[in-house]
Amino acid sequence: MPALIGRVLSDGVEWPLARIEIEAGRIVAFDGPDSSKGADVVVEDGWIAPGLVDLQVNGAGGVDLTSADRPDAAVAEVARILVRHGVTAFCPTIVTSPQEVILERLPALAPRTHPGGAASLGAHVEGPFISPRTPGVHDPGAIRPPSLAEIERWLAAGRPAIVTLAPEVPGAPEAIARLRAAGVVVSLGHSAADAVQARAGLAAGATMGTHLFNAMPPLHHRAPGLVGALLNGPATIGLLADGVHVDPLAAELVIRAAGVGRVALVSDAIAAAAAPPGPVRLGGQTVLSDGVSVRRADGTLAGSAAMLDLGLRNVRAWCTWLSRARVVEMATATPAGALGRRARVDLDEPADLVVLDRDWNVVATLVGGEIVYRR
Ligand code: ZN
Repeated sequence: MPALIGRVLSDGVEWPLARIEIEAGRIVAFDGPDSSKGADVVVEDGWIAPGLVDLQVNGAGGVDLTSADRPDAAVAEVARILVRHGVTAFCPTIVTSPQEVILERLPALAPRTHPGGAASLGAHVEGPFISPRTPGVHDPGAIRPPSLAEIERWLAAGRPAIVTLAPEVPGAPEAIARLRAAGVVVSLGHSAADAVQARAGLAAGATMGTHLFNAMPPLHHRAPGLVGALLNGPATIGLLADGVHVDPLAAELVIRAAGVGRVALVSDAIAAAAAPPGPVRLGGQTVLSDGVSVRRADGTLAGSAAMLDLGLRNVRAWCTWLSRARVVEMATATPAGALGRRARVDLDEPADLVVLDRDWNVVATLVGGEIVYRR
């Protein structure tokens, strides 16, 4: 029965120093601390928050989820690395690939717990139904128009949690409607959509945007496009806060415009995260990490070498006008909410928690009430 002591950040509120007790995976006590006696983790100058939720993780520690030989083992390995960064739940992400690769991987990426690691919330299938005009580092040869027949095969193999697609490609509205009806969250991205096409995608049932600003044309006041349509609402906006993909000022503008309830920080971590600088795999290609950013030989950004805890620390530093509890929501309650889930610290809630020191470095991570990482 683990017990923790620290200040709690949850539901947009910072609570005074509290003692949290956990039994059978749930929070059974949340009180002022009588004493720190018998507590497993004590951070009197730190915080306890819901575990971080990362909706876009392509890999970590040299493991690439799209191309690893054994997808089961690969997801479990990435899950164990994530808890070192405070992440307790994630969407294992595969990038644009041939149909057989997606079908072979979906069962391994399905929702499940991983012993000693973060829980999988289900796959994020990013592409292949994206625009050939905005591939980023996705393989242009595997980009294809949406196919309802392929979507049925995905659903049969293992329903994804999130699918990123471009709303302007032929057949996109039908694909969005089908995915939505099956309970899949559709996120608009890798798209050159104009605002009319983007709004049609939202009207068809898309509820998210993928790594805002990246792999889409910039916002122009006479051509607001996908960026403008997403900012205008009500979609949840996936925001890369590694300090490389989006300028801090632009990130701050997004947070001011959309509010913390609509901004979900994502890492877009690839195999280079939690790994030494050098070449790593992303799908069918090799990209180069300098330890912070990852690029293809032509300079195109290829996901991130940073984990979500870094993004969270960045946003805390950038948005000094926001309370700590509101900042934390963008890496917990908001991404969880995008999937219809909760992330709270309260009685009877699951004990998926992160303990942070005063600088928001991860001190400990609990998944299902178990301490799975301790600094
Ligand atoms: Zn992408």
